[in-house]
Amino acid sequence: MSAVHETDVAIIGAGPVGLFAVFECGMLGMRCHVVDALDTTGGQCAALYPEKPIYDIPGYPRIDAAELIVRLEEQIAPFKPACHLGRQVEKLTPQGERWLVETADGTRIDARAVIVAAGVGAFGPNRPPLPGIAAYEGRSVFYLVKRREDFRGKRVVVAGGGDSAVDWALSLADVAAHLYLVHRRGKFRAAPESVARLEALAASGAVEMVVPYQLAGLEGAAGQLEAVIVSTLDGQTRRLDADVLLPFFGLAMNLGPIAKWGLDHDRSHILVDPASCASSAAGVFAIGDIAHYPGKLKLILTGFAEAAMAAHAIYPLLHPGQALHFEYSTTKGVPGL
Ligand SMILES: Cc1cc2nc3c(=O)[nH]c(=O)nc-3n(C[C@H](O)[C@H](O)[C@H](O)COP(=O)(O)OP(=O)(O)OC[C@H]3O[C@@H](n4cnc5c(N)ncnc54)[C@H](O)[C@@H]3O)c2cc1C
Repeated sequence: MSAVHETDVAIIGAGPVGLFAVFECGMLGMRCHVVDALDTTGGQCAALYPEKPIYDIPGYPRIDAAELIVRLEEQIAPFKPACHLGRQVEKLTPQGERWLVETADGTRIDARAVIVAAGVGAFGPNRPPLPGIAAYEGRSVFYLVKRREDFRGKRVVVAGGGDSAVDWALSLADVAAHLYLVHRRGKFRAAPESVARLEALAASGAVEMVVPYQLAGLEGAAGQLEAVIVSTLDGQTRRLDADVLLPFFGLAMNLGPIAKWGLDHDRSHILVDPASCASSAAGVFAIGDIAHYPGKLKLILTGFAEAAMAAHAIYPLLHPGQALHFEYSTTKGVPGL
């Protein structure tokens, strides 16, 4: 069995909020280990929309999601967090006043406090139930767009009726050789300005609207699509010649192993005290998308503030009886800068 890493705070989830928690803990002199099931840091920002601009990060009128993660990495670098990527945390077990965090591959972290910043949990796309789709996934069926350029000159089928489907249809229309948008209804659940832009592109012929159709089958060989079959509810079918299918049917939210850790939770959130982000278990905190309390706003900036609150609530656990002297970063600076 591998050695146990000892630390002050174990952070489960290296999304934007988990990363910022390293900063807030670091500013109070607390060392962190961070674990994420994905191979990269950045959570949803890196995995789902790296090239999309975010407009509501204070101080950045516009910043691409991937760039935000680069900036957060830079901001936490002085605190030298240990990152364990590509490892899903399976177990969280109390050990007296401390906690043992264990991953599926046997990594063990012993910490005084735990911050669960696990976003939507074990997130994955809602996959369309098409026979044989697994053989195409990662080769010509993708659930996210990492680089628009990968689709240049391709015949692309985007499927779905929400913001992601509409936004990616708009974004890829000028790189794809042909872009179809398949939706089972004529009405889209997306921002009105985006729908208006989509209608304009459809009128100009840059996007072919395939409505009201739904995905019915795939044709191709060795993982490479040749066509996507779509059908109406009354059974009329069409064959769309295509190289790539991008289904955007939302994220499946599932707490995964977290549901078994004995923390008060509803179906997909951990319930916390909004003043401290403390969960129902002493020493375990939850922040970011996974944390819930009345009035919660699921925004990155909310998660950043929750990281600060959790860090301040954790400090007395590591320094019992010692008053925390509140200081601004302008007063104390950042170690090593
Ligand atoms: C298309 C899109 C656009 C968005 N636009 C905006 C926007 O403009 N502004 C805004 O504020 N927000 C936006 N959001 C929401 C924003 O991305 C989330 O609020 C944010 O990512 C939450 O951060 P987080 O760190 O809490 O969780 P996440 O980013 O979800 O990261 C959680 C991490 O925890 C990991 N994890 C989960 N379970 C485990 C486990 N058991 N073991 C190990 N690791 C685990 C996951 O792999 C993941 O990497 C958008 C979201 C989407 C999908």
